[in-house]
Amino acid sequence: MTEMYFNPVEETMSREQLTALQDVRLKAMVKHVYEGNEWYRKRFQEAGINPDTFAGLADLEKIPVMGKLDFRAQYPEGMRCVPRDQIVEMHQSSGSTGTPVVMLYTQADVDQWAECMARCYVLGGMTSKDVLQITPGLGLFNGGFGCFHGGRKLGCYIIPAGPGNTVRQIKLAKDLHTTAIVAVVSYCTRIMEVLAELKETLPDLKVGFFGSETFTEAMKQKIRETLGIDVYDIWGMTETGGIGTLGQDCRFHCGTHVWEDHYIVEIVDPKTYKAVPDGESGELVVTSLTRQALPVVRFHTGDLTHVISRNRCSCGRSHIRLAPITGRVDDMIIIKGVNIFPSQVEK
Ligand SMILES: [Zn+2]
Repeated sequence: MTEMYFNPVEETMSREQLTALQDVRLKAMVKHVYEGNEWYRKRFQEAGINPDTFAGLADLEKIPVMGKLDFRAQYPEGMRCVPRDQIVEMHQSSGSTGTPVVMLYTQADVDQWAECMARCYVLGGMTSKDVLQITPGLGLFNGGFGCFHGGRKLGCYIIPAGPGNTVRQIKLAKDLHTTAIVAVVSYCTRIMEVLAELKETLPDLKVGFFGSETFTEAMKQKIRETLGIDVYDIWGMTETGGIGTLGQDCRFHCGTHVWEDHYIVEIVDPKTYKAVPDGESGELVVTSLTRQALPVVRFHTGDLTHVISRNRCSCGRSHIRLAPITGRVDDMIIIKGVNIFPSQVEK
């Protein structure tokens, strides 16, 4: 089988090329946020970061981390880095504390999102000939629109079904021969229940993309067996620009490929924010390299994961592979100054 890529050049470039590209883009990003936003400029000045002397990847750990609390404190547009008339779209997540997280997009940001999402679809074997049913809502939450922008970029047949009305959802999928579906995991469970009640199947469906919730291996297996499809775990957060921006697993299902030409990912000790050795569990910290309106620079996510490999994958892609999220930093236990993660206790 010949491997398909949406963007063969960027997805398969060598580790050396990727690192060089990240270095150039990081320097440009530090300058962009410094010049474009007062909140960033003040933080960088306090940390002694000068965009003219900033050394790129070698200086990355000198940048102070930012977090969800900063987003909430700067609600709604305090971290915007471009003039307001350049914004073409916004989304927001509800947030557990009540103050939403707002994400802003220029046209270039929408294009970047669409590119990342289209790469994810191709990772799952999709082409422009596929029929894509979008079940997340096309509204304030980023899920539906991310799926839509990516589908348009790929050029497939899009059914913007949105959530709910599961009987109609199934009828649409049967009548229009849906081959690919995007859903949150819990909604896929609902579709499987209703299919069983109706004694129906979806014979045309071949692939499903699921995200935004904890996705266990047992649940993946259940969906594979019940629907007879290949299952992918799609990554992205409101703060990184939405669904699909970070990446996804490939057909070898050996970890999440993160789009490293668009994002730097660090796995760090959650107390010191210094990198831990590859393979060790730590907090995921993300820097966006190509987003304009509201990029994140060293955003600490609170999610725990580890590096599986930085070597070229069997699929030919060079981009890093991370383990599924194993927990939250908040759940981490510190015993006598040593970080203990719940997953280690399990082992
Ligand atoms: Zn791969």
